[in-house]
Amino acid sequence: MTATVQDYIRTIPDFPHEGIMFRDVTTLFGHPRGFRMAVDQLLSPYAGQQIDLVVGLEARGFILGGAVAHQLSAGFVPVRKKGKLPAATLSEDYTLEYGSATVEIHDDAIAAGQSVLIVDDLLATGGTAEAGIKLVERLGGNIIGCAFVVDLPDLGGRARLEQMGMPVHALCSYA
Ligand code: IMP
Repeated sequence: MTATVQDYIRTIPDFPHEGIMFRDVTTLFGHPRGFRMAVDQLLSPYAGQQIDLVVGLEARGFILGGAVAHQLSAGFVPVRKKGKLPAATLSEDYTLEYGSATVEIHDDAIAAGQSVLIVDDLLATGGTAEAGIKLVERLGGNIIGCAFVVDLPDLGGRARLEQMGMPVHALCSYA
């Protein structure tokens, strides 16, 4: 039987905390056929659509987003954790399970009206993606969709993004 994207993802129990089933996509990235399959499937709904920029969320969104941007002949824009980007930035705070975090984007990275695809490896609560969406929208970007390899629907991220009117594309899910 032909392997699916999910077949290449490894699950590590109790990482980074006891009780967490960590979905480790490095095994997917490390497999030549698996990585190509993931990139091809991530971009397939958008092939033929005008995408000016792919926005990747740190850090695994950079690996996937760069490959997707290349295939779509789009530019790539990183959303990074606070303090990493060298020029002037916009920032968004969001809440994590324990505490909060801040992500940033260069304030000249997107021109108003450019069409944007947001890419990350995994959608859990949706907090990270929502922060990325807000940054793109503050710059006037027109978000075509958000694409993830993994969706964890029980954590509510898909519902949260869809409530914001964001189309979500995910290659596999773990309930
Ligand atoms: P959220 O903000 O709760 O949706 O969490 C999504 C972010 O946390 C993404 O940037 C993921 O890379 C990361 N993340 C959370 N859980 C996992 C996991 O099980 N595997 C890989 N990344 C994860």
